[in-house]
Amino acid sequence: MWRYAFRVDHPSSAARFLADSGRAHWHDQAVWWVRQKRDAAASLVPDWEALRDAAARIKAHTLSRLAGYLEEFERNALALGARVHWARDAAEHNAIVHGILAERGVTRLVKSKSMLTEECRLNPYLEARGIEVVDTDLGERIVQLAEEPPSHIVMPAIHRKKEEIGELFHVHLGTRRGVSDPALLTEAARHHLRAKLLAAGAGLTGVNFAVAELGALVVCTNEGNADLGASLPPLHIACMGVEKIVPRARDLPVFLRLLARSATGQPITTYTTHYFGPQPGGELHIVIVDNGRSAQLGDERLRRSLACIRCGACMNTCPVFRRSGGHSYGYTVPGPIGSILAPTRQPAHHATLPFASSLCGSCSDVCPVRIDLHHELLELRHALAEKRLVPLGKRLALRLAAFVLGWTGLYRLAGWLARRLVPRLPRSWVYGAWNAWGRQRELPPMPRASFRALYRRRPGGRA
Ligand code: SF4
Repeated sequence: MWRYAFRVDHPSSAARFLADSGRAHWHDQAVWWVRQKRDAAASLVPDWEALRDAAARIKAHTLSRLAGYLEEFERNALALGARVHWARDAAEHNAIVHGILAERGVTRLVKSKSMLTEECRLNPYLEARGIEVVDTDLGERIVQLAEEPPSHIVMPAIHRKKEEIGELFHVHLGTRRGVSDPALLTEAARHHLRAKLLAAGAGLTGVNFAVAELGALVVCTNEGNADLGASLPPLHIACMGVEKIVPRARDLPVFLRLLARSATGQPITTYTTHYFGPQPGGELHIVIVDNGRSAQLGDERLRRSLACIRCGACMNTCPVFRRSGGHSYGYTVPGPIGSILAPTRQPAHHATLPFASSLCGSCSDVCPVRIDLHHELLELRHALAEKRLVPLGKRLALRLAAFVLGWTGLYRLAGWLARRLVPRLPRSWVYGAWNAWGRQRELPPMPRASFRALYRRRPGGRA
């Protein structure tokens, strides 16, 4: 079973992904295609920018009164017959979910996509206690069978080719070897998952939005798996981070119009289900999780990233994500938003992530809730440097760069040297040096001839 127990070194992981250049190119194209669909969908909504403004305002307002809205939500959810649990961290969340299942003797759980349960590592926790956990979202089921984490929050198996999925299904679901037709594979998954859904003792879903004034939950999926998981078994457990609250029902359309278009370029997700309390004769347990979010709320520089609605648009547009793949981030949420969330919670563990960005600002341009992602990444770089979590070589290089850029004469001299030296360096050395820089390794020895060439007059050029 996979774990992210090691210290994440994004440059090395990205280099491993890029070593398979065919896959890297294909991944880049596939993810960019989704970004283009998002652009096309957004361009058809005349008030798109006004919607983004409204979403940002609602989120800012909600985060400024989060405690009050959470309490209002709890009161109204209890009045509808749900049971509400509060979890300080991942350990409490897992213990609560396990307690609910164990109390009722449930040994089979079906789950729809929930990044929060990925964050809390719920699957291995429950499996170690004898509970079978089946992810029912197709992409999630693929990565679960492959024993790897999702590589994207909306398209968990986007890094996998259909031939690889065909082989995986042949091994685990008994499909014919060599079958890679998506329609046939989806049909096989449908039969397999239907049986699991019918046999389950409980269904667990994530939560896209929790409406404070109603005490209701909203879950958006494209496959209808959450709806089956929440309605076939008598027990429904819904796990949500504290930031999923929206104050009023009239705020919902703003987010629903933005979410699907930003995520996949669809006008609306296929299933948008509103849960008002438990189904007749059933139970609904809502687990509200903090797990570091309050600390983030208290940090003025990083508060805005709590507004994220997990659409994945910043990943689809990010040139670094597209070319390095989601697994290279070593965190549940990859891409620009993951590069903020991960080091905010575990700075030493994820110190390379804020540097996994060109700071081009494309992520901030597409974000439906207007999170200023690239500026937050820059802030994090400062914070990590202050804590001396940036490698010494990089710190020295950046200091040198700051010094040179601060003096016009030095800057001109550096430009003059670069103009003379770089064109004369062997290309192989430049690539070697670039790779060494990226991986924080020693530079390859500079060829002696290049030093001599520095003082040689270029034919027809100035000294
Ligand atoms: S940060 Fe913005 S663009 Fe990225 S996933 Fe969150 S809401 Fe979507």
